[in-house]
Amino acid sequence: MVGFQPFRLNVGFIAAEDIGYEREFRFQDLAYVRLEDLELRDVEGSVTVVRTPQGLLFRVDLQATTPQVCVRCLKPIQQPVRAVFEELYAFSEKHVTESGLMYPATGIVDLAPLVREFMILDIPFNPLCSPECKGLCPVCGVDLNVETCDHQQAPIDPRWTALQALLTSTQGEHEE
Ligand SMILES: [Zn+2]
Ligand SMILES: [Zn+2]
Repeated sequence: MVGFQPFRLNVGFIAAEDIGYEREFRFQDLAYVRLEDLELRDVEGSVTVVRTPQGLLFRVDLQATTPQVCVRCLKPIQQPVRAVFEELYAFSEKHVTESGLMYPATGIVDLAPLVREFMILDIPFNPLCSPECKGLCPVCGVDLNVETCDHQQAPIDPRWTALQALLTSTQGEHEE
């Protein structure tokens, strides 16, 4: 089974149109799209395809959410992501851009690999459930967003936990 391929667009009719012709494909409320390893939810946005002398120009602006885990409290979250790009599918080798995209003889362009790539690039390196997330207590593991414990006076930034562990072990050695 081929599956759901919403980014596979039949654009042959646009290539047959006059220069300057454009057509917008709208995406709304696509509840779930899987692009290889990437799961997207609530996909919406648009793809505008413009017939130019050199090829078909695709202007893409899509947004969605993708499941991630908050790096501080480890809660599953839906991370908003957006793919905004412009690519030319050239009619001839002479006009191929550095992306190396050629307009296929079938007239069918599958944007899925590009959408996947741009969405992945937009996932933050450290996803957070909220910028104010207090994280987990490194000692007892309680979620400091919902509970308190006696292990810290101030909220702990997880970047410091490695350093703290080092300091604690150094102190331990000193006492021996
Ligand atoms: Zn969090
Ligand atoms: Zn604690």
